[in-house]
Amino acid sequence: MSATFVGMPAFPEAARAALADPQLRHNLAHATDTIRRKRASVVAEIPEWEELRLVGAAVKDSALRSLDTHLVELEERLVANGAVVHWARDAAEACAIVAEVATRHSAEEVVKVKSMVTQEIGLNEALAAQGIAAWETDLAELIVQLGDDLPSHILVPAIHRNRAEIREIFRTKMAAAGRPAPDDLTDDPAALAGAAREHLREKFLRAKVAVSGANFAVAETGTLVVVESEGNGRMCLTLPDVLVSVVGIEKVLPTWESLDPMMRLLPRSSTGERMNPYTSTWSGVTPGDGPQEVHVVLLDNGRTNALADDVGRQALRCIRCSACLNVCPVYERTGGHAYGSVYPGPIGAILNPLLKGTGVDEQTDSLPYASSLCGACFEACPVRIDIPEVLVHLRTKVVDSHRGDRVLKPEAVAMKAAAFAFSDARRLALAERASGLAGRVIGRWGKTRLPGGRPAAGRIPGPGAAWTSARDMPAPPKESFRAWWKRTSGGRS
Ligand code: SF4
Repeated sequence: MSATFVGMPAFPEAARAALADPQLRHNLAHATDTIRRKRASVVAEIPEWEELRLVGAAVKDSALRSLDTHLVELEERLVANGAVVHWARDAAEACAIVAEVATRHSAEEVVKVKSMVTQEIGLNEALAAQGIAAWETDLAELIVQLGDDLPSHILVPAIHRNRAEIREIFRTKMAAAGRPAPDDLTDDPAALAGAAREHLREKFLRAKVAVSGANFAVAETGTLVVVESEGNGRMCLTLPDVLVSVVGIEKVLPTWESLDPMMRLLPRSSTGERMNPYTSTWSGVTPGDGPQEVHVVLLDNGRTNALADDVGRQALRCIRCSACLNVCPVYERTGGHAYGSVYPGPIGAILNPLLKGTGVDEQTDSLPYASSLCGACFEACPVRIDIPEVLVHLRTKVVDSHRGDRVLKPEAVAMKAAAFAFSDARRLALAERASGLAGRVIGRWGKTRLPGGRPAAGRIPGPGAAWTSARDMPAPPKESFRAWWKRTSGGRS
């Protein structure tokens, strides 16, 4: 499959294209509204929900503070339980480890449990380059993969597709990837799920190697935890002989006790369920039961950089529930593709710049601005990540990382001009006179009026055009405060 986020345009450009697609907006509005309602209803059942959020945040913060100790303990327990532990600094190292394991077992295909981190590192593409097919087995991921599409939501990657579109994808693409869809396939959800089940079953039974991520990793017993809704994960984790799990280092929790609040917070926040249908846990190899060769790849890929950021490190608390996406007014209108990453929405707007760094590329630098800072994401987040705070912090970092640029952005030019005027009283007085003149001219001849009748500048030319094309800029006052004071106080200063 060739679709990839590489080379995606910056958020404003990508968002414009998404906003022009009425079908996409309809699909998104319908889906996010449904999930929002479900979540709100099950969260309301827990009177101590706010206390639970505080506990969730504290548990993750505590785990992150001692991450080094917990990771070493996790490795020791996993190795004692028969697993092979690998450490990967970046995506290339992690992909190479998985490819090496698959190649050593002469596997031409692997089955995958839905996993954000394997998408983050581009594992499917890396395996394809080695001649190994990676089959997604989560229903929504299967739809995205067969449609040669990109995921647009953390939990529901095909949220931008409706039933009719999914039927068409199954009808036209399934045969090339294995068992074809039935000729009489309808867009009834049960029929679509049935076609996917038949298609995937062959792959589950054939595959020698499975690849997963992990929602959590419990250090005290060396146990990985995967939560899912369809049972496909359970098939992948138990049927093949070899299991490779790629786990971000921030997933570690010290104890089973610390897992408890997470298992209460996650399903209600993500699928709007009281508990998730399938929770799989495994601790290394169990002789005669399940995979007999277990590998765990502990991945950094920018996480230690994020951890070093005093404000940004709270993003590593994220348990990928997607509640922040479903309440975000920006996400609801643009969908996930506009964020140019497997991590879309409010969490993507902070996680991508934290993992990749600011000042590296225009697309990543555009993400902290993909928000109105309304704060709905913070209210919904089960582990209380203050996303607006991190967004503002990252905007500062983006600006800082461009201070030495030769070609200045219009905003930077405006700020430099303001600094020049404000740093000298005579220049400020001159600027005030010019502004007052502009105010009088616009007041007399300007055609644009704000509600209440105040005159406004219309679309101004040059660098300000982009700003004023979407906003009304009030006309400057005809008289500055200093001029008014001088006039009304008889010249007293
Ligand atoms: S930031 Fe919070 S709400 Fe958003 S996906 Fe992560 S845990 Fe869920």
